[in-house]
Amino acid sequence: MEEKVVEIRGLMKSFGDLDVLKGVDLDLFKGENLVVLGKSGSGKSVLIKIMVGLLKQDEGTMRVLGKEVSELKTKALNDLRLKIGFSFQNSALYDSMTVRENMEFPLVRNVKNLTRGEITKKIEELLDSVGLPQSINQMPSELSGGQKKRIGVARTLILNPEIMLYDEPTAGLDPITCMDINNLINQVREQYNTSSIVITHDLTCAKVTGDRQAVLLDGQFKSVGSFDEVFAHADDRRVKSFYDYNF
Ligand code: ADP
Ligand code: MG
Repeated sequence: MEEKVVEIRGLMKSFGDLDVLKGVDLDLFKGENLVVLGKSGSGKSVLIKIMVGLLKQDEGTMRVLGKEVSELKTKALNDLRLKIGFSFQNSALYDSMTVRENMEFPLVRNVKNLTRGEITKKIEELLDSVGLPQSINQMPSELSGGQKKRIGVARTLILNPEIMLYDEPTAGLDPITCMDINNLINQVREQYNTSSIVITHDLTCAKVTGDRQAVLLDGQFKSVGSFDEVFAHADDRRVKSFYDYNF
């Protein structure tokens, strides 16, 4: 039996009259890249915010690395968050800090007893693996959109997360840069043995990075499977239209 790192059952979340999640069931297996697709406002970001304890569900369970997130107290929640690398939509680098300072920030805050040399070595290793070894002393304003995304991913990896959450990693990037980021997502999985959720509405990103696809429709995952299972033979009209619109 495959190990589950995330197990979601019957998850419900409303904001006032707006029912966003209406009984979500989903598993993330160890080592896989799971793509979550859905149109804007379908609740994709809400789902991962519940996963990291930034929002609480109304009903159902969200187990991450064996723990029910909504039951965790502050200390335990912080410990769990350190094992999850999340790069949120629009979450940018701090413009007034160099790349090095941006990357040091989570380390210095969360890991004590590291020497200056150890910190530098770790940063250099990660910048190298995202293909930007020369950027350590640059300011974010000197980097392209794609380079900033890469640095964002490198920063997320600095605490050796077990789970990576990518919220619309290719949004706003040109097709070539998108492909670079897709490759980086796959490379990170190989190199750091992470299990990942990739939230996107870019079907190329979905196809290239996803072992499985999960389509969020009307607050539930109705189609979960390989790209071909979900899209090529889609019998749900809305899943099919998602595909037709993109390709
Ligand atoms: P997306 O799938 O585009 O990521 P979201 O998960 O961000 O969508 O949002 C789903 C719906 O929930 C949207 O209608 C959004 O306005 C609403 N929503 C999200 N967070 C909140 C909040 N904290 N308070 C009220 N409504 C929210
Ligand atoms: Mg979102």
